[in-house]
Amino acid sequence: MKLAQLFGQGRTVFSCEVFPPKRNMPVDSIYTTLDGLKDIRPDFISVTFGAGGSQVNQTTHEIASIIQNRYHIPAMAHLTCVAAGREDVDRLLAQLKEDGVENVLALRGDVNPDIPPKTDFAHASDLVTYIHARGDFGVSAACYPEGHLESPDLVSDLRHLKEKVDAGAQHLVSQLFFDNEDFFRFLERARIAGINVPIEAGIMPVLSQNSIRRMVSMCGASMPRKLTRILARYGDHPEALREAGIAYAIDQISDLIAGGVDGIHLYTMNNPEVARQIAGSIASIRRV
Ligand code: FAD
Repeated sequence: MKLAQLFGQGRTVFSCEVFPPKRNMPVDSIYTTLDGLKDIRPDFISVTFGAGGSQVNQTTHEIASIIQNRYHIPAMAHLTCVAAGREDVDRLLAQLKEDGVENVLALRGDVNPDIPPKTDFAHASDLVTYIHARGDFGVSAACYPEGHLESPDLVSDLRHLKEKVDAGAQHLVSQLFFDNEDFFRFLERARIAGINVPIEAGIMPVLSQNSIRRMVSMCGASMPRKLTRILARYGDHPEALREAGIAYAIDQISDLIAGGVDGIHLYTMNNPEVARQIAGSIASIRRV
């Protein structure tokens, strides 16, 4: 099933993101995460893609295939063109097709200073064009409610986002953000710019002081005062921070759904228990 078909059915789409186990962990450890996630019945699960040294990493494809074929949940495989050249892309797409994975998140990726980037596709829009032309896959792309870090301004970022949609992206997933007003303003700008595909809001629960500071420095998300107060008060109390972080994410999600968002994409950090708590708290809200 192409993911675009999930939208417009009168309820908010709810999806989850997982990442392949770290290199010192067996691939099989992903089953613990997926066993936990299957009970909350996400509409789809996406799998991130990382550069695994000089060779393109196979685990994204393997895990997407497991999600699709063993768990019978639609899977979306991420693919970045700084890590994958044309031949890698062709090989990975052939494997995904063979395994019945029908959806790809086409990304540029970030250059790893230790690994020379592949240069066959300069921007995500080039990869979107290439995958879309094959006709086999639903193609999704990333968007940035507060603008991409490298972008000089929001207007050029939106223009490049429109290029991805015009190139064939049928669905967008947003970068994490903590202030819903940033997302609502972005959504309005996108619709005015003629970007009419479904846009999912990316939500990452705040579970630890360090991980959130790392994520914020990587993606530039702004921290509303409500969240900085939470970090200041509970930052040194892991259990309290976890509870407050989950409550914050639930509050964000219920407000986004009230505002008519197309979908919620939960960055699970491979933590099914947290995903379960959040999904359980919004079960009725999702159906309204
Ligand atoms: P692009 O759309 O190419 O945009 C990158 C920058 O270039 C932007 O500033 C844009 O405005 C600009 N730009 C675009 N087109 C042009 C043009 N024609 N001329 C000039 N400038 C242009 N990274 C991973 O490594 N693995 C993952 O699995 C992964 N998953 C992600 C999932 C989501 C939902 C999101 C939001 C991000 C994810 N990322 C992942 C991070 C992503 O790879 C980085 O944010 C990367 O810096 C940009 O990727 P992009 O696909 O948005 O690039």
